[in-house]
Amino acid sequence: MSQRTPLMAGNWKMNLNHLEAIAHVQKLAFGLSDKDFEEVEVAVLPPFTDLRSVQTLVDGDKLKIRYGAQDISPFDSGAYTGEISGAMLAKLNCSYAVVGHSERRQYHGENEEVCNAKVRAAYRHGITPILCVGEPLDVRKAGAQVPHTLAQLDGALKDLPAEDAASIVIAYEPVWAIGTGEVATPDDAQEVCAAIRARLAELYDGQLADGVRIQYGGSVKSGNVAAIMSQPDVDGALVGGAALDTDEFVKIVRFRD
Ligand code: PEP
Repeated sequence: MSQRTPLMAGNWKMNLNHLEAIAHVQKLAFGLSDKDFEEVEVAVLPPFTDLRSVQTLVDGDKLKIRYGAQDISPFDSGAYTGEISGAMLAKLNCSYAVVGHSERRQYHGENEEVCNAKVRAAYRHGITPILCVGEPLDVRKAGAQVPHTLAQLDGALKDLPAEDAASIVIAYEPVWAIGTGEVATPDDAQEVCAAIRARLAELYDGQLADGVRIQYGGSVKSGNVAAIMSQPDVDGALVGGAALDTDEFVKIVRFRD
């Protein structure tokens, strides 16, 4: 198995203005040490309006924290009012863009076609997508979490060349666990993350699949992260609520302690 560096990413959702963002990232930088960054990649995913402030801080203080956007337009420029393009995010040195978060699927009607277009838009601008997939509660109750999640994966990766897919990050986020305090068991997370990796091997090849990082997301906290991270196919966490508490997020980054 290849060595996959865990990625701990904090999805701030629609929280923290640009001043709060600066305070938060400064506190995070003070809380983390060089050793933390040797073992784990740390990223924050602030609202669009905070990205410039975070960039200034990261560049100015040479911080090792990475950052990205919570969404990306499928289009590169033009008459798309309210959209933010990959070119704009690349200009701000964003490393990542979240694609297909369940809240965007639910409130903004994003389907596989849209996710596929957004994944492609990210790669056109050198940005790594964090592609979110995962089943709602009724699908979990019916025991169909694996086929449901793999169908989302297939749709979002349709016709994506291997040279792009090799660097993608997949976040398995069961919808029923997001923001609910109800976390998937480590075995539940492993089942679907392993199925995602197996599907990547089918779509591409085993070596590519072995190198792709698959995060778990859904009510991750310092108290449950170690058990989830102990699973062989879980390579990090996409953290919502707990990422707004800097001390808690630092503990999540230090899941091995
Ligand atoms: C998320 O927003 O991706 C998420 C997993 O949220 P939470 O950690 O709050 O469940």
